[in-house]
Amino acid sequence: TAVADLTVGQQARDFVSGTKNMLIGGHWVTSASGRTFPTFDPATGEKITDVAHGGAEDIDRAVAAARRAFEDGPWARTTPSERQRLIWRVGDLLLARAEQFAQLEAIDNGKSVAVAQGVDVAWAADIFHYYAGWATKIEGRTITPSVPWIPGSQWHAYTLREPVGVCGQIIPWNFPLVMAAFKLAPALAAGNTVVLKPAEQTPLTALLLGELFCEAGFPDGVVNVVTGFGDAGAALAAHDDVDKIAFTGSTEVGKKIVDAAKGNLKKVSLELGGKSPNVVFADADLDAAIPGSANAWLFNHGQCCVAGTRLFVEDRVFDEFTQGVAEFASKVKIGPGLDPATQLGPLVSQEQLDRVTSYLTQGLADGARALTGGKRYGDSGFYVEPTVLVDVHDGMSVVREEIFGPVVAAIPFSAEEGVSIAANDSEYGLAAGIWTQDISKAHRVAKQIKAGSVWINCYNGFDSAIPFGGYKQSGWGRELGAEAIDLYTQTKAVNVAL
Ligand code: ADP
Repeated sequence: TAVADLTVGQQARDFVSGTKNMLIGGHWVTSASGRTFPTFDPATGEKITDVAHGGAEDIDRAVAAARRAFEDGPWARTTPSERQRLIWRVGDLLLARAEQFAQLEAIDNGKSVAVAQGVDVAWAADIFHYYAGWATKIEGRTITPSVPWIPGSQWHAYTLREPVGVCGQIIPWNFPLVMAAFKLAPALAAGNTVVLKPAEQTPLTALLLGELFCEAGFPDGVVNVVTGFGDAGAALAAHDDVDKIAFTGSTEVGKKIVDAAKGNLKKVSLELGGKSPNVVFADADLDAAIPGSANAWLFNHGQCCVAGTRLFVEDRVFDEFTQGVAEFASKVKIGPGLDPATQLGPLVSQEQLDRVTSYLTQGLADGARALTGGKRYGDSGFYVEPTVLVDVHDGMSVVREEIFGPVVAAIPFSAEEGVSIAANDSEYGLAAGIWTQDISKAHRVAKQIKAGSVWINCYNGFDSAIPFGGYKQSGWGRELGAEAIDLYTQTKAVNVAL
């Protein structure tokens, strides 16, 4: 079978040796319907195992468990320092089981096992460690009110930062474990309870993470994991007893979340799509900018919401630079995630393969030219050749729409003023890159670009402490850093007559 290939360790093998149940109220349960769904290895297309197929009824059960845990359970009385210790322990347990997590991520998602361990697992653990520290540092303010219309009165006021309550969290398949950490760690640090709905393509590491929460000693119902499809996510987003919904995924589904949340006006945060500009000036250090700009759209096989897929290159160096990027891309080692030498794995699913190749066909038919790549790679597994497109123009779908595969459109420009306008000509505003050795120009352009993250002389620079989120249709709110604590708390003002 798929799992017997290459190097899957015993622990990961054991984990997928039977049907996976989901975590509700501290128990591992089957779905109410009794149904399951298969999860596949994208390197081979073969089934890994079956997973409980959760639906609206399971979401109901999980929300009820999260509500009980929030209102009446021991969680409601847990002190910040106890929360800190529990969350820290999850980070430690993740590191202790890094190989098992990395192998499961590699077979379920397709990413390289080396990247999964060195980036995904390491970062997820860091996010838990980072937010463990926040649990004890959530503070309100004291305010001295004047109330001038009641002469002689004396008042004292303060604010409390309180948890929002029961949080629904819906995550995508591109960074299954990291996305779970983005969502769970700040929510728990702030004292909320959670129902997490992982993506149907990649449910395995969220389920293993669920085991760590039990092992770490979290009370029952604080973290619930319901595996299922979009209908389970829709039920969570619409649920009247959910106080907040956090979603990462496509802009299209993000709009459905907003709509579904209307019933009880639950709080909504969204991290959505992008078509991010990466701007290379002729005065950049090209030896650094070429690999940096290639990795901007190659990392995670292009399946990154921040992928730098509109590559703006100053016309004087356009040919030399795009040739360099194409050469870098053509040498990337393509293979299954479990091969430690792999740099570019398969896309996550047949659906994504079809989507990306149809963008390529359309782009080439529209007149774009591929300096390298341009089609599916091989004939088994969901692989796509890394593709550099030139001779593109504004109207093409490959320039305007999020492809979510290893495809970049390179566009020449001649002036600083013009390139910011072109970079901002997108419905999205998630991220941007700027490459130049002129620091004033770098900061000027950074200010002009409408994006939530700007990277200067680097790309994909992330850290648990740096806020992340989108301008325009790339989202609402910021995750990571102190700002995620704002997302998961609400302010109560208390005013005392002295
Ligand atoms: P992608 O385009 O990256 O596959 P999607 O936006 O389709 O991402 O899905 C991201 C997550 O949203 C997944 O967990 C998926 O099951 C869930 N989802 C899909 N449709 C809906 C919906 N209508 N309501 C809520 N969640 C949904």
